[in-house]
Amino acid sequence: MHGTYNFWLVAASLVVATLASYTALDISGRLASLTQSRTRHVWLAGGAASMGIGIWSMHFIGVLAFELPIPLGYDLKITAGSLGIAVLVSFFALLVITSRRLTAKRLVASSVLMGAGIAAMHYTGDAAMRMLPAIEYDPRLFAASIAIAVVASGAALWIAHTLSDANQTNVLAKRAGSALVMGIAITGMHYTGNAAAEFLPGSICGAANDVDAHWLATTIVLFTLAILIITLVLSRFDARTALLAGSVSRLNGQIVRMATFDTLTDLPNRRTMNERIDRAIRNARRDGSRFAILFMDLDGFKTINDSLGHTVGDEVLKAFSRCLQDCVRGGDTVARLGGDEFVVMLENLHAPTDAEKMAERILDAMKKGLVVGNHPLQVMASIGIALYPQDGDSVESLLKHADVAMYEAKRGGRSTYRFFEASMNEAAVRTLQIQQALHEALNGGHFYLLFQPKFRGTSGELAGAEALIRLDHPEIGTLTPLEFIPIAERSGQIVQIGYWVVREACRHMAQWRAEGREQVKVAINLSPRQMHEADLVANIMTIVRDEGVQSEQIMFEITESVAMQDAPRTIEMIRAFQESGFEIAIDDFGTGYSSLAYLQRFRAKQLKIDRFFTNGLDENGQEGRAIVSAIIALAHSLDMDVVAEGVETGSQLDRLQDMMCDEMQGFLLAMPLSANEFGTMLQTREVSV
Ligand code: C2E
Ligand code: MG
Ligand code: MG
Repeated sequence: MHGTYNFWLVAASLVVATLASYTALDISGRLASLTQSRTRHVWLAGGAASMGIGIWSMHFIGVLAFELPIPLGYDLKITAGSLGIAVLVSFFALLVITSRRLTAKRLVASSVLMGAGIAAMHYTGDAAMRMLPAIEYDPRLFAASIAIAVVASGAALWIAHTLSDANQTNVLAKRAGSALVMGIAITGMHYTGNAAAEFLPGSICGAANDVDAHWLATTIVLFTLAILIITLVLSRFDARTALLAGSVSRLNGQIVRMATFDTLTDLPNRRTMNERIDRAIRNARRDGSRFAILFMDLDGFKTINDSLGHTVGDEVLKAFSRCLQDCVRGGDTVARLGGDEFVVMLENLHAPTDAEKMAERILDAMKKGLVVGNHPLQVMASIGIALYPQDGDSVESLLKHADVAMYEAKRGGRSTYRFFEASMNEAAVRTLQIQQALHEALNGGHFYLLFQPKFRGTSGELAGAEALIRLDHPEIGTLTPLEFIPIAERSGQIVQIGYWVVREACRHMAQWRAEGREQVKVAINLSPRQMHEADLVANIMTIVRDEGVQSEQIMFEITESVAMQDAPRTIEMIRAFQESGFEIAIDDFGTGYSSLAYLQRFRAKQLKIDRFFTNGLDENGQEGRAIVSAIIALAHSLDMDVVAEGVETGSQLDRLQDMMCDEMQGFLLAMPLSANEFGTMLQTREVSV
């Protein structure tokens, strides 16, 4: 007896198989991204049910598509049994797909099991017709149908497992394509199985009266489609909600991180550091332990930021934060308070020397230098140390005292560390007073200039003078530049003060000239911050012209360490000065890290040997003399004049003259003089000539 196929139902079975496969793939993808075990179980059960119903109804629709010329019906219990098998097989399949690792062995075993399950479902479905006599099966086609089921299952499992990886791209298109392949394979298995069935002539269907086939077909198609679509929609919706929930919780995490960590360096920020110090205080009170706060900032960071830009500045801060993290021990805290201020907290201190060692270790690490982008930068830090309990018993006092100690370290020559001492508080108060005084100084007319004469080495003639600023404040008295220039540097006021110095020096020079006095060169000091003013030379030129002074009469002094900080820029700056007619001197030579190559390229007019070396002529014997003589020889070979600063004794003067030093400056020869006194000196000279 031969049956015929209802085309529409065959097509419907393919659609259902494809949709069921798509649902399976979608759910397996969903399962792979779930971490909570409860939701995972719900989706596993729900997914297995809808996928099982899908596969089963594909088979069942396939069975219904086959029409025999006799009335057909299906045994409800056996049909339900075949559905049960389909759901079980699907459950198993989803487990395999979403398992973390799918080895070849596991894939083969699972394919055989799943294929056997699908075949069992199919032939149980056939059995639901209760044919009399029973259906006979062509052994080869029967075997082929099982083989197809196994191979199709294997392919389906492998594809689904691969696609459940969350890092896939174009996942929807890949899933749709794979679902079609899987659908065709499953349908193929079914129709091969059907072809294997032989209905003997005169067969009757024992279940013919149970359920009407057409009604059943329509119901199942609609029901299955509904289930599959609902499952898909739910899965998508759930995925979206999970995605949303995920981004909300990620955002939450980010907000918490931003509030507690510094975004640039990823270090704890001020707030977090305060909390940790507070906790450390409580711990230390409880178990009588001690801890240290190391407060530090980078020397000259403002200059780096102004000259090389904020991007480089940021890189320097990051490099510094890495350096600190490399230096500290496991339990220590490194935090960035803001700007270039960093704090390290060392807990469970055995002795104050532990803090000292750490400070030394940090400074040593910094000496190796930071390479930031293409700029090799010699950046150093100053460190202040406060200890608990002796230097403070609250977060505020510990941080403040460590800060005060750091400021002392800066005043003590930078690139060093200081422990807090009670007397430093007085220094901090003084700093505040000076800051206040500086605010009023320019408008209040509290600055004035002194002129320290310079003399020729051989003849002793007056060669010129160096302008030295003083601050005379009605309340705090007269201050030397060493006291207020670093503070003005930090606040940026030095730029305006610097222009004032140029104007004032020119004013005096013009006056001396008007009084008919001898004209000499005047040297003016430049500070690092001024060097980073974009139109420094142009602005100075305007002032000099306004005051009616020749630029050839002015020499600018740039400290060696500042000149070397960014040597290529210094060269540019020096050229700009020279093009406008000014001369340049390298001041305090011997205190920076000079590169001879750069020294040559600066092409400065003068080299001023630092007072330290002049002093060494008396104090350090032969060695001290050898150094000065070498510096003089070097300067002469580079075509520069040498000025010795700080000449205080006759023996220094004699030695310098022997060494052919070009000019001398120092208390022995003349103290810094007021403009009037220096004017008189000029006049005296003129008269005596
Ligand atoms: P400097 O440029 O090296 O100036 C020389 C300093 O040495 C002056 O100190 C001077 O008074 C001092 N001095 C001169 N002869 C002797 C001596 O024989 N023995 C000793 N012990 N000291 C001597 P002063 O005036 O206190 O200035 C200190 C520094 O402040 C200067 O060092 C300079 O770097 C800076 N400075 C001074 N005036 C200005 C200014 O107008 N602008 C800027 N930016 N810096 C200035
Ligand atoms: Mg100077
Ligand atoms: Mg000097």
